[in-house]
Amino acid sequence: MALDLEALRKQLEDERAQLLARAIPEPEPAKGDEADMAAMHQAREQARWLESDQKQRLAEIDKVLALIAAGKYGICENCGKPIAPERLQAKPQATLCIECQSKLEKKRKG
Ligand SMILES: [Zn+2]
Repeated sequence: MALDLEALRKQLEDERAQLLARAIPEPEPAKGDEADMAAMHQAREQARWLESDQKQRLAEIDKVLALIAAGKYGICENCGKPIAPERLQAKPQATLCIECQSKLEKKRKG
């Protein structure tokens, strides 16, 4: 089974554009009483959470796009073997083959 890299690239670029369009502006600085300060603080915390989530996704997308551009997409970062196409279809941002991934997860669990 061959991967349709061109379709994947397009899909990722679309998602990237959507993420960027949803980027949240910083809340206005508060100049009121304590309730305003609390509300602003909460909004800021929320914005930061969304932002870091978006940033993480953007970083993933950028990484995959860079790998595609370099012709290295679908190669395991750890052992250099090709990653199974089924795995890439299920998880396009995968950069490790299934063996390396499971070894890593075992290591993480201790
Ligand atoms: Zn590997």
